[in-house]
Amino acid sequence: MGSVAQTKSKEPIQATAPKKVSIFGATGSVGCSTISLINERPENFQIEVLTANRNVKKLAEQAISLKARKAVIATTDLYEELKDCLSGTGVEAAAGADALIEAASEPVDWVMSAIVGAAGLAPTLAAIQTGSVVALANKEALVCAGDMMLQNVEKFGATLLPVDSEHNAIFQVLDLEQMDKVERIILTASGGPFLKLSYEEMRNVTLAQTLAHPNWDMGAKISVDSATMMNKGLELIEAVHLFPVGNDDVDIIIHPQSIIHSMVEYGDGSILAQMGAPDMRTPISYALGWPNRHKFKANRLDFGEMSALTFMEPDTSQFPALKLAKFALNTGKSAPTILNAANEVAVGGFLKGQIGFLDIVSIVEETLNCAKFVEFSDISDIYVEDRNGREIASNILRNKCA
Ligand code: NDP
Repeated sequence: MGSVAQTKSKEPIQATAPKKVSIFGATGSVGCSTISLINERPENFQIEVLTANRNVKKLAEQAISLKARKAVIATTDLYEELKDCLSGTGVEAAAGADALIEAASEPVDWVMSAIVGAAGLAPTLAAIQTGSVVALANKEALVCAGDMMLQNVEKFGATLLPVDSEHNAIFQVLDLEQMDKVERIILTASGGPFLKLSYEEMRNVTLAQTLAHPNWDMGAKISVDSATMMNKGLELIEAVHLFPVGNDDVDIIIHPQSIIHSMVEYGDGSILAQMGAPDMRTPISYALGWPNRHKFKANRLDFGEMSALTFMEPDTSQFPALKLAKFALNTGKSAPTILNAANEVAVGGFLKGQIGFLDIVSIVEETLNCAKFVEFSDISDIYVEDRNGREIASNILRNKCA
């Protein structure tokens, strides 16, 4: 059984002082969408920390225009460049992995966790340990360290708000007080750009085709994950951690239009769905305003214009990533951590042009076949297993390139 998405209070709150906000992964797709929402009502927010990995120019521009207190670049070598860009602006510059954790340990009212990959785990945990409200986009952190993250949420009285559109949808329609009446959660999946291709037809797809998601405009890694459907596999694991349901209580259904973002089926036959245009600003806005709702100028659904909403069962021989994620979920222990680490390595290899599209999931499968799965007793065990998974996957990837 997973843990409930933690909430402090669902009572609407009246805005008084501006909300102190930090954004980890500010320069990415989710980070920029968050900033665009903040820019619609800047008087309501005070920006504390913004972070990036390498994109100094964008980070500095964001920090200056939002009058952030601090900007952190994860890549240590880029410190001087960031310092130069921020010179005379009053924005403090910092760099490196420790600086990220230190910045995340500074208490604020609301944190956006939008670093991509397991690199986001340490800062997200540090933010949780301040007892803040943490809006979680960084699903990989939850996949590789779900139980420990949720133990920390409880221990430090933090609030975790799901930002992933599917989990945000479930959060909006799930009645946590009547969980005994919930029959199942239905995660919707667009099927990505290759839904109409057979497994073999995907062998020679290009990077450009892979990154061209039909409905969503996202960062490179999640776009590749959507094309392999590993993204839905990661989301399955994410859902079981966020909501108090069993591994077999979450179904995946393909819905190519991405209008219904997910659904909850109750024991009386009612199915509650959250719908909206495919625009990440809607779930981010929900998390940013929570427990209130904000208004913003998102695209609205026009039912008169809509031709059809269609659904189909996913085919795991076409998208074997779904089977691997289910295997990792059911195996437990370090299996999800290894799955995630191998996937990050394989996606990285594909993005660099080292391997073909079908190699991505093969590398994950071969890594899972080689790995030994261990129980975690401490957070440091997770980092060890993450490194193990990366090492095994990197060796397999090297052999494929040879
Ligand atoms: P992007 O690749 O667009 O952005 C990633 C952000 O993380 C950038 O700010 C990047 O900095 C930073 N970053 C990358 N690597 C590191 C690192 N090693 N250390 C510190 N910072 C790093 O990703 P997305 O915004 O698309 O996705 C972010 C997260 O949100 C992912 O976990 C994704 O699965 C999830 N998500 C994304 C959605 C979307 O629509 N994009 C939807 C739902 C979930 P820099 O710019 O300098 O590289």
